[in-house]
Amino acid sequence: MIYPGEWLGVLGGGQLGRMFCMAAQSLGYRVCVLDPAADSPAGAVADRQIRADYADAGALAQLAGLCKAVTTEFENVPADSLEQLARDCAVSPRAEAAAIAQDRRREKRFAQDCGLSVAPHQVIAEAADLARVEASLLPGVLKSARLGYDGKGQVRVDQPAGVRQAWERLGEVPCVLEKWLPIASEVSVIVCRGRDGRSGTFPVAENQHRGGILAATIAPARIDAALQRGARAAATTMAERLDYVGVLCVEFFVLPGLQLVFNEIAPRPHNSGHYTIDACVTSQFDQQARILAELPLGQTRQLAPAVMLNLLGDLWFDQDRLRLPRLDAVAAIAGACPHLYGKLEARPGRKMGHVTVVAPSLSEALARAGQACAILGLEPVR
Ligand code: ADP
Ligand code: MG
Repeated sequence: MIYPGEWLGVLGGGQLGRMFCMAAQSLGYRVCVLDPAADSPAGAVADRQIRADYADAGALAQLAGLCKAVTTEFENVPADSLEQLARDCAVSPRAEAAAIAQDRRREKRFAQDCGLSVAPHQVIAEAADLARVEASLLPGVLKSARLGYDGKGQVRVDQPAGVRQAWERLGEVPCVLEKWLPIASEVSVIVCRGRDGRSGTFPVAENQHRGGILAATIAPARIDAALQRGARAAATTMAERLDYVGVLCVEFFVLPGLQLVFNEIAPRPHNSGHYTIDACVTSQFDQQARILAELPLGQTRQLAPAVMLNLLGDLWFDQDRLRLPRLDAVAAIAGACPHLYGKLEARPGRKMGHVTVVAPSLSEALARAGQACAILGLEPVR
């Protein structure tokens, strides 16, 4: 194991990095963040920040020199940076696992190799592919193969002629055209796997999106027990087949016939796993720190039903006027645990924080989350 007092590193200074820093520090580690921004959420709590670009060779060398092990907090970390770091210190996840998650084409192929179903789709890599669009994929959604997140880099397509327009709108980059599925619900599984190959999964989370961005997570998911076992087993298989070390999120669609369809993976802790901070024995960030430090995994058992609500920057605006959301009233709700990420500027769509509401039963957690929604002016959780 890496002993407390030693340095752990993280590439990226966002809120996921911030919550990782806090978890690692509570285990006694010192944490260094590499991020170019002067006012990053993780930089504000880290013991040290190296302010540089993620691909800066000198900065990476400095990080590797200081830290015994380094992890990442965002999906599109350059594979070359992970490879450079791996020459001098332990790095997780591996560059190869990150590269698969960074490309929707590879991600889907990998899921199929693991025996999972994926949405019917077709790769649109170049203009010539537009001539052979399968009409059965429409209505559909065109997604850029790389660099999409929070619904960005996606365009809905209803007519065959719309595919070219959508492709041009996305900048004529390689894309995947996916059939729009009649989903009954969306779920995700956070799996954690150590260097020794031991793994664990957290209870399945049920996710509700608005405008392509996660709005709420309900845990445990209100789906049939066999489906929950299937989702957890599938996520474990994927982590094993990737020889993954670290925390991985696997997102699925649930179709009306109770069929699980793989959507995507994220090679890091995930927004849909934030409920684990307040509702589970060990959080997803504790697991990330334990794995990095080569400590045994903690229990993933859930202690209380939970509903997590994302607090987006929209809540800081009334029309165009800045205002503060009623966090005091939310904090007064029984079982409410607010988390703010220390971002100084609110912008619509920007993830400013989240609140997890725990309760003795899921129906009570939903009722309390309903109160929070009413106070904040959020659409109620379904
Ligand atoms: P991102 O990387 O932005 O999270 P996703 O592919 O997960 O991209 O899409 C964001 C959301 O859009 C999904 O969580 C889901 O609600 C909706 N969505 C995406 N693809 C489909 C699809 N093929 N059918 C139905 N809904 C979809
Ligand atoms: Mg997604």
